[in-house]
Amino acid sequence: MVIKKVELEKVIGVTSKIPDMPYPEFAFAGKSNVGKSSLINALMNRKALARVSAQPGKTQTINYYNVNDKIYLVDLPGYGYTKVAVEVKAKWGKMVEKYLRQSKMLKHVFLLIDSRHKPSDNDIMMYEWIVSQGVTPIIVATKTDKLKRSQIKGQMELIMKTLNLTSKEQLLPFSSETKVGVNELWEIIEGIYPE
Ligand code: GDP
Repeated sequence: MVIKKVELEKVIGVTSKIPDMPYPEFAFAGKSNVGKSSLINALMNRKALARVSAQPGKTQTINYYNVNDKIYLVDLPGYGYTKVAVEVKAKWGKMVEKYLRQSKMLKHVFLLIDSRHKPSDNDIMMYEWIVSQGVTPIIVATKTDKLKRSQIKGQMELIMKTLNLTSKEQLLPFSSETKVGVNELWEIIEGIYPE
């Protein structure tokens, strides 16, 4: 994708109505600090449009990035490190649930998982919760630059196995540092919504 224009077009808060947007939406979910802002910046070829922070617990908003007046990359609020079950019942869960159910233009959800670790019980619960909302997320394994080359395949298999993914479900290695996966992610998006 040649990026001609990117713009943070809309930011909505917890109590807002889910807006009807004119272009297809691709949403990104993940635990705080998993590398979601960095991934969105890498996709848009911008250094700091999406806010990167070393600290978890940013404001809970849904951010719509307009790319080329063609699609939106939608930054869902990051969930915390506490029990996901608690968050799902809380404001966070209500907001994301509302988004997943009501956004008419949502085409795909990407769930980011840190490639360095075996998915935690919280990661598994989050994956299953998204599936229970009627959406099968594509898993993006972030920060693969932190792994040795020889470890990558094994870690991908561990993620597949722990999340119980079938071979039909997609798992994409990604690094915002080395840009591994950027083209592949765009190919997935463009495969659904060609330029
Ligand atoms: P978010 O909370 O999920 O939006 O995560 P951020 O994008 O703010 O990143 C959290 C931290 O991880 C920051 O210190 C980033 O610099 C770092 N980080 C993000 N992506 C990568 C990556 O691909 N490789 C490495 N080595 N660090 C990353």
